[in-house]
Amino acid sequence: MLPETEHTDLYGGFYQANAALMQLFGHTDGIAAVVRGANGVCVWMSPLFSRLFKGHDALELPMRQAWPQLGEGTFRNIEAAYHSGRTTRLYELPVHDPDHKDRSSRSTKFYDLYFSPLLDRDGAITGVTISGFDVTDRVLIRSHTIEQQLLFKDITDAAGTALWTVDQRGNMTFVNHTWVQWTGHPYEDHMGRGWIEYVMPEDRDRVISTFIRELTVKNTFQLDFRVVRADGGVQWVAATGKPRYLSSGEFAGYVGSCMDITERKSYERSLQESERRFRDIADSAPVLIWMTGANKRITFLNKNWTSFASVPHLLADNGYLQSDLMHPLDHDMVLNTYEEAFENRQEFYMEYRMRHSDGDYRWIGMKGIPRFTDDNVFEGYIGSGMDITEMKEHEQVKNDFIGMASHELKTPITSIKAYVQLLLTIYAKREHDEFLMRSLSTVNKQINKLTRLITDLLDVSKMESGRLSLNSEVFTLHDLIKETVDEVQHTSSQHDIIYSGLPPTISIYADRDRIAQVVTNFLTNAIKYSPESDRVDVDVEISEREVTVIVRDYGIGIDTTEQAKIFDRFYRVEGRNEQTFSGFGIGLYVVAEIVKRHNGRVWVLSEKNKGAAFHFTLPISTDQA
Ligand code: ADP
Repeated sequence: MLPETEHTDLYGGFYQANAALMQLFGHTDGIAAVVRGANGVCVWMSPLFSRLFKGHDALELPMRQAWPQLGEGTFRNIEAAYHSGRTTRLYELPVHDPDHKDRSSRSTKFYDLYFSPLLDRDGAITGVTISGFDVTDRVLIRSHTIEQQLLFKDITDAAGTALWTVDQRGNMTFVNHTWVQWTGHPYEDHMGRGWIEYVMPEDRDRVISTFIRELTVKNTFQLDFRVVRADGGVQWVAATGKPRYLSSGEFAGYVGSCMDITERKSYERSLQESERRFRDIADSAPVLIWMTGANKRITFLNKNWTSFASVPHLLADNGYLQSDLMHPLDHDMVLNTYEEAFENRQEFYMEYRMRHSDGDYRWIGMKGIPRFTDDNVFEGYIGSGMDITEMKEHEQVKNDFIGMASHELKTPITSIKAYVQLLLTIYAKREHDEFLMRSLSTVNKQINKLTRLITDLLDVSKMESGRLSLNSEVFTLHDLIKETVDEVQHTSSQHDIIYSGLPPTISIYADRDRIAQVVTNFLTNAIKYSPESDRVDVDVEISEREVTVIVRDYGIGIDTTEQAKIFDRFYRVEGRNEQTFSGFGIGLYVVAEIVKRHNGRVWVLSEKNKGAAFHFTLPISTDQA
């Protein structure tokens, strides 16, 4: 490697040291070379230097020719050392290893290079020594650290949450971009205690005192406060701080976050607002308003409730309404209705008596509606009740009057009817008194109508006061229907009542007269409301448990919206068609009550102008089954 021809005085000592140098540099990853003169003519290279810079042919060549890949910066440093007599340095020069084969390691290495003037015995500068050390590891660690920091920055910036650190004295040492963006002030403004400026003045004292207090005891803390935003708006944040310790165990301050909770706060506020509004409305309403949870416990009672009875009286310890407030006669019905509604998540309405704080019982009309969340989860009930005591009293007066009046009417009517019947039998034998006969039979028909009306009225008053009793017996339904059909058929010459029959074996256990009353009512209505038709059909259907009687007419029909209401007391359909028919609207009410008391059902299938099919069911007698 050494040029044998260059044995001059100047380099004599150097050459002697060559073997030792070669050995030294042969075993380290350091590199070295020596150049001569202002042009930097290559005089000597360590083996690695030679390999990296392709230096085999470099000897005796000026440096720019010898090692072009060293770069102009290096050459200028060498020249500077040569001319100034001082050591110059070049840090972290990237060097490509031309013979690099190992794929797992990098082909580029980094060297710190030192250029020192080489002096002769007289102290004159004759050349420059170049020495360098592999600092690749240092460069890699640093770039890795920078990458980590960039990644950390990217992550913290990407978080919609503000992240921060403070030192052990509570001075801010880092805050991410989110916070900077919120406040609209540069990073530096927040360092130290700068961040406090951006806390809403109203919250500042509270924030500082909590922060200092927690810092002193090194506790984890949580704190809500408002931040003044860049746009002048106010932002609610929930700050969390956690003490941080170095690996040595030394307290290093806090690391924490601030979450934007503005939406949550405004939601909470609007929730409170709407709750207050609900309370105000509920309290000002002249009704009893209540709510329960899904577990049936009362969660809300309005002011009217609490003035009806004091809260300790209203609610038992477990949060249920005190059941001893109910009238003993209504107690079971109330609890059953409530339990059943809860079980089926159904709307309910009930009327019952409840003890007021003045000691008297009041009638309450109570309605309850089940509540569900948007995704249909049952949440309990909301309901309202009205004091209907006065209404009940009026009703009672009216019922008493109806009862009394119909009772009083019954006696003279019975006597008139008896006389008319007597006259009919007497004059039936005298042929020349046809006019008289017709008049008498019209009077008779009208009296029958009147009797039915009075009977119905009496029934209504009995039903209202719970005095309607049933005299049940086992009888054959077929016979009953046949008799009733025959009886009604006598009163109508226009309509044929066609009864399709029923196996005579079917017997039921019921009040025979009352069931006859139901069938009669259906039949007379069918005739009355089908003046243009001449036919009424009676059918019976039997299933395992019940029998259904159907009376079908081909008359004016009933609009679907009216069909449920016609069974209500005093309800009559209003319309041009219906006006021509006289009536009180109590027949179907009586029917419905009778059927209900027999555990049956009653309904109508109809369409306007297409006739109607009235149905009622009765359970089949268990004896029969
Ligand atoms: P009323 O016949 O005395 O008015 P009801 O209680 O018997 O009272 O009937 C209530 C209402 O139902 C009647 O006013 C009538 O509008 C309607 N309605 C009852 N039966 C029929 C029917 N067969 N066809 C059409 N409408 C009927």
